[in-house]
Amino acid sequence: MESSKKKDATNSGPQDGNADTNDEKKPELCPGFPDVDAFVKYGLGGVLSATKASAGLPQVGDEYDFYRSFPGFQEFCESQGDKLLHCMSQIMQHHGCRSRVRNQSKLTGLEERFDLIVDSNDAILERAGILLDEADGVNRSQQPVMPAGFQPPKIVVSSWNRKGSGSGSRSETFRLLHAKNIARPQFKFKEKVDNSNTPFIPKIFIKPNAVKPLPSYFTNKQIRKERPEDLDVPAALADFIHQQRTQQHVEDMFAHPYQYELDHLTIPESLLAKPEPQMYKVMAETKLSFIDTLEDLVALNERLCTMSEFAVDLEHHSYRSFLGLTCLMQISTREEDFIIDTLELRSEMYILNEVFSDPSIVKVFHGADSDIEWLQRDFGLYVVNLFDTHQASRALNLARHSLDHLLKHFCNVESDKRFQLADWRIRPLPEEMVQYARTDTHYLLYIYDSVRSQLLTVNHGQPGLLQSVWNKSKDISLKRYVKPIFTEESYLELQRKQKRSFNTQQLTAFRLLFAWRDKLARQEDESTGYVLPTHMMSKISEELPKEPQGIIACCNPVPPLVRQQIHELHLLVQQAREMPLLKAEIAAQKTKGLTPIKKPEVTLFGPHDTSRVSESDLPHFPPDELPAKQGMLFSEDEDKMDVDVKETNGLVAHAKITLFEELETKNDQESLSVAQMKARRIIEAFENPFRMYLPITDVHVNKNAKFDPSSKIFEISKRWKLQNIAEQQEELEAKRKAKAEAKEQAKKVAAERNKVKKSYQESLKNVATVRQQAAESAKGGGQKRERVPSEVGESTPKPSKKLMKSAAKAQNTEPPTQDEFTPFDYSQSDLKVFADTKSKGNAQFDPYRQGHDIRKKKTPKGQKSNFSAGNRSMSYLSGKSDRGFRHNWPKR
Ligand code: AMP
Ligand code: MN
Ligand code: ZN
Repeated sequence: MESSKKKDATNSGPQDGNADTNDEKKPELCPGFPDVDAFVKYGLGGVLSATKASAGLPQVGDEYDFYRSFPGFQEFCESQGDKLLHCMSQIMQHHGCRSRVRNQSKLTGLEERFDLIVDSNDAILERAGILLDEADGVNRSQQPVMPAGFQPPKIVVSSWNRKGSGSGSRSETFRLLHAKNIARPQFKFKEKVDNSNTPFIPKIFIKPNAVKPLPSYFTNKQIRKERPEDLDVPAALADFIHQQRTQQHVEDMFAHPYQYELDHLTIPESLLAKPEPQMYKVMAETKLSFIDTLEDLVALNERLCTMSEFAVDLEHHSYRSFLGLTCLMQISTREEDFIIDTLELRSEMYILNEVFSDPSIVKVFHGADSDIEWLQRDFGLYVVNLFDTHQASRALNLARHSLDHLLKHFCNVESDKRFQLADWRIRPLPEEMVQYARTDTHYLLYIYDSVRSQLLTVNHGQPGLLQSVWNKSKDISLKRYVKPIFTEESYLELQRKQKRSFNTQQLTAFRLLFAWRDKLARQEDESTGYVLPTHMMSKISEELPKEPQGIIACCNPVPPLVRQQIHELHLLVQQAREMPLLKAEIAAQKTKGLTPIKKPEVTLFGPHDTSRVSESDLPHFPPDELPAKQGMLFSEDEDKMDVDVKETNGLVAHAKITLFEELETKNDQESLSVAQMKARRIIEAFENPFRMYLPITDVHVNKNAKFDPSSKIFEISKRWKLQNIAEQQEELEAKRKAKAEAKEQAKKVAAERNKVKKSYQESLKNVATVRQQAAESAKGGGQKRERVPSEVGESTPKPSKKLMKSAAKAQNTEPPTQDEFTPFDYSQSDLKVFADTKSKGNAQFDPYRQGHDIRKKKTPKGQKSNFSAGNRSMSYLSGKSDRGFRHNWPKR
């Protein structure tokens, strides 16, 4: 049995040789085969001759018809056919797949039987993939922690959503960490989120390590604030002047602020030479600092200034926010780990640009594509000199390119990716999540060494391959964040992916709902998936319910904003119903009853999509496929068939927790009267939608505290301002040893110098805001920092070592600041509950696996888009395998 799986696996796709052979050093694999290789060789021979024989059969059409006229041939075909079907049926049953290959009418059944086989292949390949993963040390069977209010679908339809059923398990259940009572971090943001339907403009307002100055648009607030109304000329002329002026800035506004620096970045020879991998420190013996105060962040920045490389990763949340929120930044040096609470320090994170944009410090990421965008979007941070280990893994052609694979491969560390999809807004962070986050960067510098070394080895010591990884990484750091923009046509793109053809009315409904959802999501700062999941939107458009109740019926569970705005929605559907239908559409409607029933779509869900359950997602069995014993292929297998049927039914699993009914599950309900409970529910269900627009009352900025000369942040800002460009340039040149380019650049720099000076003078006027707050909050914290001798008037091209040392002293963690909201203490929760998948003896539905695969499909840019065995795309019918993939994630 084991052998058949192995065989499937080895024939199924491009695995690298050691993926499945590593662990097989046992005396004899199975009777007659000393090892996997021997077995594979034999199996492959069998497959080859079978393929050959099949190709040699008489061709469909005349040739076949001719042969068929001989009864002997006919008989032989029948008996061989039966044999083959029997064989296939047994394999399918062994893998717990539906196997009624034969008991259907010959004409209509062919397509369904074909589907059956495709589905079975998927299931078998998926299992092979899991086994390979396991053999490779990756455990995919564990549960992720789900975001707040997330509910997976109750019904699992597709074969690859189904947990392996060899064990005879009959029911499926779900488990998830239900993050309750999380304060919206957005409320605390000093700068409110800009969900407007306008393109993203970089957040940067000061540019450390600049070779080319930051355009005046960013440094001069005046320009940004300029309005035509303020011009003292007639309105039409004012508009014209304003337009002309803005035009000048448009190019600057959307350019990558570090484009010039990145274009001129050369990797020093030392980084193209073979490194001696420096072993990572044991995690238990490594200091971990949790950074949630500005002071500690400044100290960290100082520390990082002295490094030649450090590792970075981010954790992100996208369900209860329109654009998404970066919740955590993990940084590891060779000596220490840091976790930054980026929700708390969101407006201060920009100070790290000093190290992030420093070309002499390598920033190591794994799969940085999204991170680069999130850094820009939330903090205005840019990376100059990036090394992406995911790109290295690709260049090395490793079996898989995920971080957990690299961890296993290079560090022999088993990582637990269960928390990847956790709700990272949770504070205080549970210990398990801290550990998870930390693991993402702790080993990364060692991996960075190892992959560089290997890249040189496999390329016979030539730096070409390694250079290509540096180049790819640079391309990633040149990525620019693009905000999702709503246009009149946006809905069409989504509609096309629905695999449903809509008539004029339905399409109108879809368009109107799409616009409603987008507007509300921006306004309420929620993901579109939270406002109204796409599959529900599709369902409403298809049904065009006459009554508001009908709309509610299309949604299960009903999203709060749908309930709240049901009348608005009803009006939109009515409006759609009034659209005149085309003649052809009317005709089609009449014959609707006769149209073949749609096959169930693959039900997938993103971690941030809500339940994808709707009627259309229910597995639909045509009448002749209903569980019935007559006509079954093998009488001796009847018992097994029963199991099979039950398993199919068992797919209708019971979700323990539902998204929008969460309030009912609260334990102290009994003590409340019905009315009280109702009131409470209403109150809790609605948040003031305008709260995000209200002035934030808890942030006090003392205008007098312009700069506190005793603060580190003051030092940093001064350093930036005083940085002498010529010296900086010299230093850069020296570091890069790019002598050839030196002359040319010096010229350019001289030309830029004047501009830079101007820009820096400008920025002097404008950097104050956050720093003022910082200085103020540092004062409030009561911790007086040492006054570091500052070289006012001197040029300080690089942070002085003195500064760094003094900063290091300031490195101690403070208790988190108190505020009015008392969030649920997640550190108290028992996360072990989610860890053990076997304790209840139930087969577990595994949402992670899908998430994982979704991501593979979803991320064309290649971030963790490893081609794992068992990927659905391995089976044929590629068009089909894409069903339902793309819109499971809310836009970021
Ligand atoms: P990582 O770099 O693996 O730590 O992932 C960073 C962030 O990306 C996580 O915090 C998630 O928000 C998001 N993410 C990673 N993998 C997935 C996935 N399969 N589905 C949805 N979000 C993901
Ligand atoms: Mn990452
Ligand atoms: Zn991570």
